[in-house]
Amino acid sequence: MNPPQAPDSLPKYIAEGIPKQDDSTIEDLRKYSQAILEHRQQTRAEAEVTAEDIPSNAERLGTDEAGTFVAETVTCGDQSCGCMNGGKKHGPYVYRYVYNDGTLTSEYLGKQSELKGDIDV
Ligand SMILES: [Zn+2]
Repeated sequence: MNPPQAPDSLPKYIAEGIPKQDDSTIEDLRKYSQAILEHRQQTRAEAEVTAEDIPSNAERLGTDEAGTFVAETVTCGDQSCGCMNGGKKHGPYVYRYVYNDGTLTSEYLGKQSELKGDIDV
């Protein structure tokens, strides 16, 4: 019986190294590979900006590899401004939300009306 062929996708240094290992090392390798895959999937899931991460009144514009883009209308904090007294809020402004090392950050990009065409979302 011929030994199994390594998948073509495996780099040569790995394909040649694995058959030389003993059974317990190969078993460890299998567990380690599985753990790496699980960790990556978890990291990806954490990196996803969900509806709970953005203000409820925000409009989700789209997501790409740079983050999730949302349009928000905001109050300015000036008590004499109409926005603080039930009037029209400012904006909409566009923000980019992204997870960096597990921490959600948002970046102000500008007024939505001035960004039309600049962001591809
Ligand atoms: Zn205001």
